[in-house]
Amino acid sequence: MPSKKLLYLIYIYFIIASISKATDELEEIARVGIIGAGIGGTSAAYFLRDLFGDKVLIDIFEKQHVGGRLAPVTIGGHNYNAGGTIIHPANLYMLNFTDILGLECDAHPEPGRLGIWNGEEVMFSTSDYLPVTLAKMFWRYGMDAYNIKNWVQENTLACMTNLYKFQRDGHAFSSVEDLLNAMCPHLVDFTRLSIRDLFKKDGFSDRFIDEFVYGALRINYGQTSGIHALVGSVSMAGVEPGLWNVVGGNQQVPQGLLRKSGANLIRGKVTTVSLSSDESPPVYQIDYLPGTSTNKDDINSKEYDIVIVATPLYKGVSNIKFEDFQKDIEPVHYDFHLTVASFIEGLPNSSYFGFDSVDSLPSCMMTTNESLFFNSLSKQKPVSGKTAEKPVYRIFSNKVLKVDELKQLIPEWSDLKVVSWMAYPEYPSSLKNLPSFTLHEQMYHINAIEMAASAMEMSVIGAKNVALLAYYRYTGQYDKIDELLTNDSSSEKTEL
Ligand SMILES: Cc1cc2nc3c(=O)[nH]c(=O)nc-3n(C[C@H](O)[C@H](O)[C@H](O)COP(=O)(O)OP(=O)(O)OC[C@H]3O[C@@H](n4cnc5c(N)ncnc54)[C@H](O)[C@@H]3O)c2cc1C
Repeated sequence: MPSKKLLYLIYIYFIIASISKATDELEEIARVGIIGAGIGGTSAAYFLRDLFGDKVLIDIFEKQHVGGRLAPVTIGGHNYNAGGTIIHPANLYMLNFTDILGLECDAHPEPGRLGIWNGEEVMFSTSDYLPVTLAKMFWRYGMDAYNIKNWVQENTLACMTNLYKFQRDGHAFSSVEDLLNAMCPHLVDFTRLSIRDLFKKDGFSDRFIDEFVYGALRINYGQTSGIHALVGSVSMAGVEPGLWNVVGGNQQVPQGLLRKSGANLIRGKVTTVSLSSDESPPVYQIDYLPGTSTNKDDINSKEYDIVIVATPLYKGVSNIKFEDFQKDIEPVHYDFHLTVASFIEGLPNSSYFGFDSVDSLPSCMMTTNESLFFNSLSKQKPVSGKTAEKPVYRIFSNKVLKVDELKQLIPEWSDLKVVSWMAYPEYPSSLKNLPSFTLHEQMYHINAIEMAASAMEMSVIGAKNVALLAYYRYTGQYDKIDELLTNDSSSEKTEL
């Protein structure tokens, strides 16, 4: 009798054979226009190349820089991650990309002690010695400090394992809700109540929620424990050990994926997507202003069989119009949260936090008081992995800070850089509807997934799903879409 391993290899062989057969039979070269060269857009290009082989021509439009919210900031002669910084050890796509691009992981991106400040006192801080930290955690939070690890494992990381398996097997889903349902049905329920209510229901104490959970939410998303429980639980995944980032800067991943995909980068701002022909299959037109031009007379146009929107469709972020569609294209609208990252080369004011020296001050201070002018203060390590000659701290806040506010935390500095981000959605405590990946027959929106949670790995998961959807619809393999759903769990029809 063949072994399980052999049966599995035969199964994988047939999946790959059926996909390459569909690709071999393609007569035309598919023309794909991707809007946005962040990690979502560039990983979509990478996955499309993998699926279509040489039967696809990919253009990626980018109005600013490749990498989007993954970007470096230079201060005191060293580079730091200004946007997306920390990667979870269970983020297998980011890990795999780092590997195939020949990049290195820095396994200790944010060394040092952690503190939680309520505006008057440090309520909790870790120690340099693990047994002391564990004892302090137990003293302040009882079993919650230990239960949270199991909770994260069971409620989010196990679902990620399901996702990697079904995406590897080539399963695609029309909507975010269907994808979450296939990962673990409870994830959809998590979008319908706040993280505070869920943790209360699951037996965590008020103190743990108001200090530990809230502090983590303020540093990760600048928001409160009133945000929905799915993004809240993604934020809590940071309690796991082994967080990492890419040596040299996380932006190298999208840059490398762009190169590897063989996609053509078009520097310019997309203004409009319209339908050139509404016969089936449709043809889309993308209008764009090349380079940095703002003159409407410079607008160029190109036609595509498939359009992938790889940016939030929030007005202040992308400003893309959809025209000439029979039905209005109505992506779910949501506000975006302003996060300001101030990078300062200088020493923090330890007495502000009631410490008598910088050495005794925790290197990462989370906060739990909504009326405070900042969300966190944390010492940064250069992306080179080396130690900077002078310390650099990052302050996260929900507004641009005044000089006297900065001075309260860092009285003197030799360098200061302020980066303002429209960073992630402003998450409500309950989502009525999760958005669709599909905007029109062959037009997709990767960032629909950001309403579930914003993170690098989430954009890649959305990109993989969208690449599969586009490929299956282009090659007429409709049965491969939403295949894992039972009839009553499907949230929308496969064929539009
Ligand atoms: C301060 C901050 C800290 C974060 N920390 C973490 C973290 O520690 N870990 C983590 O996993 N995630 C983190 N994130 C989130 C993570 O960075 C994002 O979820 C992820 O990078 C989003 O990638 P994306 O490709 O989907 O979108 P983006 O990176 O926003 O890419 C979209 C691209 O589209 C371009 N674009 C937009 N409109 C147009 C147009 N009309 N024409 C042409 N181009 C256009 C933009 O210029 C941009 O480059 C953080 C984000 C911020 C802001």
